[in-house]
Amino acid sequence: MKKILQDFTYTELEEIVLSLGEKKFRAKQLYEGLMQGKAISEITSLSKAFKERLCEEYEDAPVRIKETYYSADGTEKYLFEYADGNLVEGVLMKYKYGYTQCVSTQIGCRMGCKFCASTLGGLVRNLTAGEILSQILLVNALHKNDAAGQGKEARAVTNVVLMGSGEPLDNYDEVLRFLRNVTAEGGLCISARNISLSTCGIVPKMYKLADEGIPLNLTVSLHATDDETRMRTMPVAKAYKIAEILKACAYYFKKTGRRYYFEYTLIEGENCDEEHAKALIELLKGKPCHVNLIRLNEVKERNLKALGDKEAYRFLGLLEKGGLSATLRRQIGVDIGGACGQLRSSYLEKLES
Ligand code: SAH
Repeated sequence: MKKILQDFTYTELEEIVLSLGEKKFRAKQLYEGLMQGKAISEITSLSKAFKERLCEEYEDAPVRIKETYYSADGTEKYLFEYADGNLVEGVLMKYKYGYTQCVSTQIGCRMGCKFCASTLGGLVRNLTAGEILSQILLVNALHKNDAAGQGKEARAVTNVVLMGSGEPLDNYDEVLRFLRNVTAEGGLCISARNISLSTCGIVPKMYKLADEGIPLNLTVSLHATDDETRMRTMPVAKAYKIAEILKACAYYFKKTGRRYYFEYTLIEGENCDEEHAKALIELLKGKPCHVNLIRLNEVKERNLKALGDKEAYRFLGLLEKGGLSATLRRQIGVDIGGACGQLRSSYLEKLES
């Protein structure tokens, strides 16, 4: 596979441009074009000869949107296709304050969570920083005229969540590079405070992230209140105990001053009885954190059941009564195919059948 220019910082692009015998200011034109989601060949300010020279070494368009699905509530889901034919999915959620894009960090995943569709076929490969960034560049380009992104340098996407396929901390270096590039001034310049990174709890990498000095929102997928229950649905729980995760979260708070978040997917008969609510309160009370309750998106390959709506609100009520800050995540885009990885796996299935 060819390298891709979206992996590089502005300064690195300057070096590339100079090494190819072009004037330094061409880097600005190149960078601007790339940040507008253009393929190299589409950047009109550059000469044809220079673009051809670049395309000898670098992928002209590293990713394209293969399919788009529109939900009645405005949510959009995309199937992205990379230059090597691999597919990942992404979601765009439209809120009053702006657009939130959910990006994937890996093709497939090797964490093996029992409720998740992304991990069914294991890890195919990591995405590079630029391949992750390109998901946003394309969606921004698609929505450049929307109200949320008015202005010349339309940036429709204001918030990013790393909650698509993959485990971001299992692809640490590329994800970090992505974070630096997506927040870079002069680039998309998305505030780190508007970025949430979700991890299944790879403790050493959580410490490392805390030390990077990027004030993003750290979210941990907890989904259980004790290690034994957690191990049943999340194999990673065998490596890292809940107590260690909580210590790493405390360290994150100490280093960044940012409160942290827990995701807790409600799985019937597994983690959402009254005793679990009590245990969760016991575990998190007084900590600078917020709990996001998620309704299980039932994956047909997995035999796990979602908790009913009434019971979900009851569970939320118990947490609130116990003094936790918690919300039940609104379900959006349900009519366009579910959770993490479901779109890709159903698409691959269609191809195989
Ligand atoms: N690897 C990261 C990002 C995963 S996706 C992590 O583990 O946090 C973001 C969230 O969706 C995680 O909390 C994940 O556990 C949850 N999730 C995955 N599949 C789901 C499903 N079928 N229903 C509900 N939540 C799911």
